This record gives sequence, structure tokens and C-alpha cells, in this order.
Amino acid sequence: MAKVSIGLRGWRFEESELFDEAGEFRPLDTMSDSARTRLVRLTYLQAKPCDGCYLIHGEANKKRCKQAQIVYGEPMEEVLLCETHESDFLYWFREAGGNQFIETEAFRRSFVEWFDAGNRAPDGYEGLTHVDVDPHALPDPPDPAELQKRLNDGYTDRRKRINLRTGEITYERTDQAHAEQNRIQQLDLSREYPTNK
Ligand SMILES: [Zn+2]
Repeated sequence: MAKVSIGLRGWRFEESELFDEAGEFRPLDTMSDSARTRLVRLTYLQAKPCDGCYLIHGEANKKRCKQAQIVYGEPMEEVLLCETHESDFLYWFREAGGNQFIETEAFRRSFVEWFDAGNRAPDGYEGLTHVDVDPHALPDPPDPAELQKRLNDGYTDRRKRINLRTGEITYERTDQAHAEQNRIQQLDLSREYPTNK
């Protein structure tokens, strides 16, 4: 089955889990938790700067940072990279003990500390040979407003909200459902029950 990256290179999805036959994104609640979390997280990560560049230039010179093209790690613990800094990351991961942190909460922090201490891949260190070289050729993640809309298609009594940072879905009653609930509660409170005196 075909694997596909969305927006940023690195995370890979089962194509058939994300898209229907017409190439449209499938409803979010039909996806596995892992795929949905990553997809939603990508809408948040897209257009963020490379972590390596950001550590070098800082908030004050954010404009000098390259936009991230690659994402590694787990959602919320991910590392964002431009092509230049990807080789530093891969060196850290393969040669400097980074792989021991895979799928741990220390993954991102460990890389950041290593990089921030001035460590880099040696000159000429080759990262990966990419098959899909052009990041602009990757499909874009759906935009946040579209995600919320898709999530609520067909739902009238309660609204689902998605946390765009974590991909978590929560439920929220609509005003209409809320009003109905209040009415029921009021009825219950004011009802006079017959007594058996
Ligand atoms: Zn960079």
C-alpha cells in the first residue's frame, strides 16, 4: 500500500486511510487516532520555522529562519527541520545517541540541548537520499477551519471540537441542545408529583 507525506516530509501515512477514492480527505473520525493526531498536528506545524534555524537566530531574528520542510518524532515531541539542519539531526540520531530517545518525552529536548550546545554533523555528512525531493509536491494538510467543518458535517445535536495542537476531539453541546437540556431540567424541578396521602 502506498505511503504518503502531508505538508512536511518525515511523517508518513497510509494513503488509503487519509484519502477516499476521489482523493478527498476522509472524515476525521474514521481515521485511526494516530493518523488523525498527526494530520491535525501538521496543520499546526505547517509554516513553522526549522528548530535548528530558530535555535541559531532566536525569536528576534525569526525572519532569518528557514521554514521547516521535515518533521521527525512523535506529535508534541517533534523536531522540525530545514534541509540544512536535517543532516545535523540525522547525525545526532544515528551517531550521537539520539536514537535512544525515540518515542520518549525527552526526544525533542535532547536534540535541542545537543544542537544548542553547538554540536553539528561533520562537514559532508550525508543525510538521506530522498526519493521525494520536492517538498512543494506534497499535498497540503486541510486548513483548520475546514477540519472543524468536516468534523461536524452531519452532526446537529452536539458539536465536535478538535484541539489543533493535540488532535484530541472533544464534544460540545450546541445552543439548541443546551436549551433543550435546560428545559428538561426546569420541568423536572418544577414538577409536582402526586402524593399518596
Ligand atoms: Zn534550519
